[in-house]
Amino acid sequence: RKEQLQLLASVDAVTKDGVHFKLSGNISSVKDLKQALKHGAEGVGLFRTEFLYMDRTNFPEEEEQYEVYRQVVETAGIHPVVIRTLDIGGDKQLEYFALPEEDNPFLGYRAIRISLDRKELFITQLTAILRASAHGNVKIMYPMISSLEEVHEANQLLAEAKQGLQERGIAYDKDIQVGIMIEVPAAAAIADLLAKEADFFSIGTNDLVQYVLAVDRMNEKIAHLYTPYHPAVLRTLRQAVLAAKEAGIPISVCGEMAGDEKAIPIWNYLGVNNLSMSPQSLLRVKHRILNTTAKDSQDIGAHCYCLSTSTDIESELTKFVGIDA
Ligand code: PEP
Ligand code: MG
Repeated sequence: RKEQLQLLASVDAVTKDGVHFKLSGNISSVKDLKQALKHGAEGVGLFRTEFLYMDRTNFPEEEEQYEVYRQVVETAGIHPVVIRTLDIGGDKQLEYFALPEEDNPFLGYRAIRISLDRKELFITQLTAILRASAHGNVKIMYPMISSLEEVHEANQLLAEAKQGLQERGIAYDKDIQVGIMIEVPAAAAIADLLAKEADFFSIGTNDLVQYVLAVDRMNEKIAHLYTPYHPAVLRTLRQAVLAAKEAGIPISVCGEMAGDEKAIPIWNYLGVNNLSMSPQSLLRVKHRILNTTAKDSQDIGAHCYCLSTSTDIESELTKFVGIDA
């Protein structure tokens, strides 16, 4: 079964009736990237850079970050690499960076909020990413955006980083694309406004589900309440997708939901064709896409969208996964 799946690595992810999907990998290292490429990834939809900052005693300097980003970009070759800026806080702590004890860390000092507070760290990272952009197809992505001001501020610091490189005479991609993660309900609610300031959106369903449903993604006691197949989540997804389409910017999904075959009818219904997932999920999802008729899948998605409970939605989607798999 594993060997059979591996044969699909070089096959395009196309439904029986010709709808193309682009499948990319979520990675934290060059090692992950190699696995993703082996499994047929057409790029990196999410490079989680926080792992570069973990298991050490100090912040990585520009040069060190640049080396890692460059290695990833060169390994990816012609494929795009979406590098997400630092997303610590919440569940991810750094021993050498004394983050305050918080009652609600997932609602607290986290991700872009830290980057906009500790501007020197952010500029160092942006500078390293920009330098790597001279070696391939790099895009920048901001995590946990919840307002337009955050995007403006981050872009202002990006402009400073570019200016700095300009002055040092160092090359970077002057047309580098900058995207936003949609993983906070506020971002979905103002997706039309954010779309004017972003080159692309990527939906982070892991956090989006947690925040829409007010269910801590780490708390096992309430794990049964944590599901992307809640009508409220589907409505939130639709809002973001419609805003992206209206604005004419690409939208992809990079949360765990992207790696779940059950979600394919939802993507067909919403018209999302760009999925980024952990390397282990790529071939399984592709296998499912190859055995799917988009027309039927879209109908199932439309039907699910109108159902009232996650129990009903999940049961329909589970049936779908059973069909000639
Ligand atoms: C997400 O929230 O869906 C996401 C992809 O980011 P992370 O899992 O790293 O928080
Ligand atoms: Mg997230």
